[in-house]
Amino acid sequence: MPLPAHARTPVPPWRAAVRDAVRDPQELEALLELPAGSLAASDAGFPLLVPRGFVARMRKRDRRDPLLLQVLPTAAESEAYEGFGADPLAEQDAARHGVLRKYARRALLIASGACPVHCRYCFRRAFPYPRQLAARGDWSAALAALAEHGDVEEAILSGGDPLSLGNARLAELVTKLESTGVRTLRIHTRFPIVVPERIDAGLLALLAGTRLAVVVVLHCNHPNELSNEVGDALRKLRAAVRVVLNQSVLLRGINDDDGTLASLSERLFEHGVLPYYLHLLDRVAGAAHFDVDADRGRELVAALRARLPGYLVPRLVREIPGEASKTPIA
Ligand SMILES: *Cc1c(COP(=O)(O)O)cnc(C)c1O
Ligand code: SF4
Repeated sequence: MPLPAHARTPVPPWRAAVRDAVRDPQELEALLELPAGSLAASDAGFPLLVPRGFVARMRKRDRRDPLLLQVLPTAAESEAYEGFGADPLAEQDAARHGVLRKYARRALLIASGACPVHCRYCFRRAFPYPRQLAARGDWSAALAALAEHGDVEEAILSGGDPLSLGNARLAELVTKLESTGVRTLRIHTRFPIVVPERIDAGLLALLAGTRLAVVVVLHCNHPNELSNEVGDALRKLRAAVRVVLNQSVLLRGINDDDGTLASLSERLFEHGVLPYYLHLLDRVAGAAHFDVDADRGRELVAALRARLPGYLVPRLVREIPGEASKTPIA
């Protein structure tokens, strides 16, 4: 008797890790041995989502753990602040068929609306994904929108997290991109950090096999995120692609001290990853309590410059709608 389809195609471990992620604040409380009721919070319409492997890197019994603070819904998110809105980067009207063309030569594809983790400070928390997905249908509308610009040399896959797409879907997209004028494929992803299982054999073969130059930009904010499993995944990833960089968001109470940022750069370097951007927070509603002002950001980067080699100092930037590139702050 033939096996049912689901038995023949087992769920890949990374998909299982996302499926089985912690979604209940009370369970998170129990796993971290926090007093009952200490995490109870509203989620302002953006629910808790954190994979168990990431929870395992949090310190037990510490309500201020820097990884916990990145994912835990809190009452502060419901407070309204002047200057913090739903679309701080004015992107909602700029995207066409999931393609966002703001800077020379580069076009960003919103490849997926899904993420393996919900980061409380994320500017995309209020993004209307169903209207803006390049991944709908067969990519042709997105590829046509990209071709309209003519001069696109680099396709940037973003989201959401583009690695939320399975390997078959990604392979389809890569094949299509190879037949355009695109030469570089950049992938902005938090997956290798939060669900290192995502760096599986199929993905590695796909990345190593394309004629496009592949750049992976990770998103890691704190050295405690870099577990041994993440280190193993990064080693394999580095062997398959041209370069692996990291971007971080400067977050109050999480990484806004020079010791933490220096150790993040050093730990990344141990894994062969160079820091790229340190972003000042995008002013999305619900994230104001994470904001670190530009002056403090400058001070921190100056402190990093004094203690690290230049290549381990990230570029402090802010994204300002209408500018021709990210805007350097320091
Ligand atoms: C950040 C971003 C890019 C990439 O900018 P780089 O400075 O090259 O990293 C491209 N397109 C959009 C829409 C972006 O937001
Ligand atoms: S887009 Fe990135 S920062 Fe935002 S929730 Fe997803 S993984 Fe986190």
